[in-house]
Amino acid sequence: MQLGCHISVSKGLEKAAQKAHELGAETFQVFTKNPRGLKPKKVDMKDALNGVEFCKEHGITVICHTPYITNLSTPKEDLQEVTIRSIVEDLNIAEAYGAIGAVVHCGKHVGEGEEYGIKRMIETLDLILEQYDGPVKLLLENTAGQGSELGLAPETLMEIRNNTKYPEKIEFCFDTCHAFAAGQWNEEQFDDFIKRAEEAGYLEHIKVIHFNDSKVPFNSRKDRHEKIGQGEIGAKALQKFLQCEKLEHIPFILETPVTEEEEYKDEIVYLHQLREDMK
Ligand SMILES: [Zn+2]
Ligand SMILES: [Zn+2]
Repeated sequence: MQLGCHISVSKGLEKAAQKAHELGAETFQVFTKNPRGLKPKKVDMKDALNGVEFCKEHGITVICHTPYITNLSTPKEDLQEVTIRSIVEDLNIAEAYGAIGAVVHCGKHVGEGEEYGIKRMIETLDLILEQYDGPVKLLLENTAGQGSELGLAPETLMEIRNNTKYPEKIEFCFDTCHAFAAGQWNEEQFDDFIKRAEEAGYLEHIKVIHFNDSKVPFNSRKDRHEKIGQGEIGAKALQKFLQCEKLEHIPFILETPVTEEEEYKDEIVYLHQLREDMK
């Protein structure tokens, strides 16, 4: 199990990789571009190559995250077009960064209803994936179910994946905070949740875990991350993920709120402790 965190890529991939290594991270996540915009980004290929080389030398796994503001289910043609162009570009940037996948949030039906939202999301995914044939997987992330967000449950996420023309290009990013806020799991329901995820065929397709505690209670349908052990989920419940044999091969990424990336150093040490704690 590789443990790591989200890192700023503003000074380039090589610097981000060095930073991750300094913090004791064996994996890290970067944004493909400004998370609040869709402005195209020119990748510094020399920096990307150096970063990829550094990660290879140190056995570090890279994950990319696409901007938040895309909506895979948007009913508006012009917004859908912009979203498709942006995410295809994100996949190519992720490939230059040597990432195993690019995380994208599930769509929002914005009042059109769940059925429409899912159908539209599948359409958009097809239009994106027909334009990308590389090694990077699109990693659909489960949502907290805030507003009209889709994709809360393993079963829904599998339905979306299986109904696209390119299921082999789609894998999943599982966020512990989102799933808790969406009422999908808590400490008592952990074993049941793993069983459900396995039966749905979802578990085997999880390629990264966003490992976060939650500021808001179970089933509150809000996306508010908290540091591990300081939120409503709690250390004991989150420890179950760290000690679950079925998740051992998956990189865990902290997206917990910090003012300085240095704070992740202690939090990663804490995760190792929780993991090695006697069961
Ligand atoms: Zn996340
Ligand atoms: Zn979140």
